[in-house]
Amino acid sequence: EIRVVNEGYFGSYSSFGIHREMLSDKVRMDAYRQAILGNPSLMKGAVVLDVGCGTGILSLFAAQAGATRVIAVEASEKMAAVATKIAKDNGLLHDESPFDGDNQSKGVVKVIQTMIEDLDKSTEIEPHTVDVLLSEWMGYCLLYESMLSSVLFARDRLLKPGGAILPDTATIFAAGFGRGGTSIPFWENVDGFNMSCVGKELLEDAAKFPIVDVVDSSDLVTGAIALQTFDLATMKHGEMDFTASIELEPKLDHYTKDMQSHTIWCYGVVLWFDTGFTDRFCKETPTVLSTSPFTPRTHWSQTILTFRKPIAVTSAEPVYDGTAEVGSEACPATKLQSRISIVRAALHRSIDISLEIAGI
Ligand code: SAH
Repeated sequence: EIRVVNEGYFGSYSSFGIHREMLSDKVRMDAYRQAILGNPSLMKGAVVLDVGCGTGILSLFAAQAGATRVIAVEASEKMAAVATKIAKDNGLLHDESPFDGDNQSKGVVKVIQTMIEDLDKSTEIEPHTVDVLLSEWMGYCLLYESMLSSVLFARDRLLKPGGAILPDTATIFAAGFGRGGTSIPFWENVDGFNMSCVGKELLEDAAKFPIVDVVDSSDLVTGAIALQTFDLATMKHGEMDFTASIELEPKLDHYTKDMQSHTIWCYGVVLWFDTGFTDRFCKETPTVLSTSPFTPRTHWSQTILTFRKPIAVTSAEPVYDGTAEVGSEACPATKLQSRISIVRAALHRSIDISLEIAGI
């Protein structure tokens, strides 16, 4: 008998594979470790709240950094039990049982199994008593399946006025990508065989929905711009949905390298994000966690929005040179103007991204 069980969101987070992926993401781990262990004046003696603790890794860092109390909140039953065991096995669990000799853990970490939204109902933590709020809440394209609204909820209820939130900034970036950023080159030559029909089909599919994949910085044909910046310490819940108008400048170095064709084709827009652990709270060691195509890859990769037709983005006369496979007419533009809207769908677990291109 085969049973398909829809475990839902917290079920999916209880599978260890996802936690292994996050714990093996060196860029992610280095940023959080540095932010927590590199800022002793922030962490020493602090009351810390870890929103969505998973295995408890951020709480363990906080305990190591000298926090006096670490409350690790996790909705998934399985992961809350795992986090408790891990903290205990590492001598960092706060043990409330009566003293039973040398085995008693003298740790500071307390794991609570609950949705952070329901924490109020327990008496575990009084409103506005937290010095430092820690969370790794970011999803693909920052906001897909993100827990940002839960983090803001915790901030408003539990953080002391002026308390620290780590990370404290988040920025979404956009840049145009060329042919190399599509699946076309790969399928054109597979051990000498032309399989480009697959590449074309994939490109047509890609124009229908965003795709999470890695884009190399050498495949960008425009400069990068910041689409939206969030200040986690001050932003309001409503600011998570936004529309941004952007103007992307063609990259001149690409143009000069590619003089034969006189035309740079832009196949779509790639999005990525950075989160900042800025010197507002991380005074000793500010850090940035970047998921950009210019820095080592992370498990977030990048998010790719493909145009239905490629666009020529040079000031030279657009000459159709046969490299722009999708659609018959290519569209000339000296600057690429687009509006990108990001709207979170039901339960804040998914986002709709729409892309409009101005002037064509
Ligand atoms: N902090 C861990 C895990 C991050 S993944 C790490 O950095 O490795 C996010 C975790 O938050 C998941 O384990 C998920 O179950 C939990 N989570 C998501 N929304 C939550 C909520 N509203 N309340 C409590 N936990 C939540």
